[in-house]
Amino acid sequence: MLLSEEAERQLRVWTQAAQGEFSCFGVVEKAEDSGLIVVNKFFLPKQTCSGAHTSPDRQAMGQLMTELVKAGYDMADLRCWAHSHADLQTFWSGEDNDTVNQMDNGEWLLSIVTNKAGNFLARLDLYRPFRVTFDKLPLQFQSSAPHNEALATELRAKVNADLPDYTLRPTRQNRAGFLIDDYPFDLWGMERSQNDDGESVLMDLQDCGLTPDEAAKLVQAVKTWPGGDIDAFWKLLTDALPEADWYSTDAWGILDVLNEYRLLPNDLGPKR
Ligand SMILES: [Zn+2]
Repeated sequence: MLLSEEAERQLRVWTQAAQGEFSCFGVVEKAEDSGLIVVNKFFLPKQTCSGAHTSPDRQAMGQLMTELVKAGYDMADLRCWAHSHADLQTFWSGEDNDTVNQMDNGEWLLSIVTNKAGNFLARLDLYRPFRVTFDKLPLQFQSSAPHNEALATELRAKVNADLPDYTLRPTRQNRAGFLIDDYPFDLWGMERSQNDDGESVLMDLQDCGLTPDEAAKLVQAVKTWPGGDIDAFWKLLTDALPEADWYSTDAWGILDVLNEYRLLPNDLGPKR
């Protein structure tokens, strides 16, 4: 699925602006050429943004529907429910699952949960002819701003042209979603803060999918790396860690971590 530039901006801005959580609804269309489900635009029903976990207010939803029909939108296109978890991780709560069940439109619904940290988690629920949930859908962005997906595509092309392209690459953010999003606590963060700096770079690299061994090897290798562009960085990674599984490892995240700890000899920022 793909978020239009406008839809992405709406979600990001509203998420940052809302004090607590909020829900909104998106108009979707199926792109004829790519077959992607595109979320074009979101609409925000009247609601109170509280810190509590809220499902969309039925009355507000009704009002929103009426307004949209008046504005010429087809209700059959209103198939995306997005909401924010504010400062919490992105995950599907029991209440979120209930909400998705209640929004049974007899066909399908797309749901997105995001947060102030900028994480996104997406799922597709099919109501008929089978009740199926496809969770952790890859989310693409129309915007030309740098996204992990761009690198994912690049890495995928370099690593193995035959890999299926529906796969969600566990980016550093998504990986957190993968492993600890079911718990609204930053367990790893707490663990991290108990370690000194030398330890935490290793922990952060493991966050990106490296084994402890690989993390240590990479930190050693980057110390003697002369620097270079993104291709040189990619070569550093593959040379230092020939056995690493780049399919499940977040190279962007590694770049971020090494950068955060000032271990890179040059600034790769503009190259991204
Ligand atoms: Zn939720």
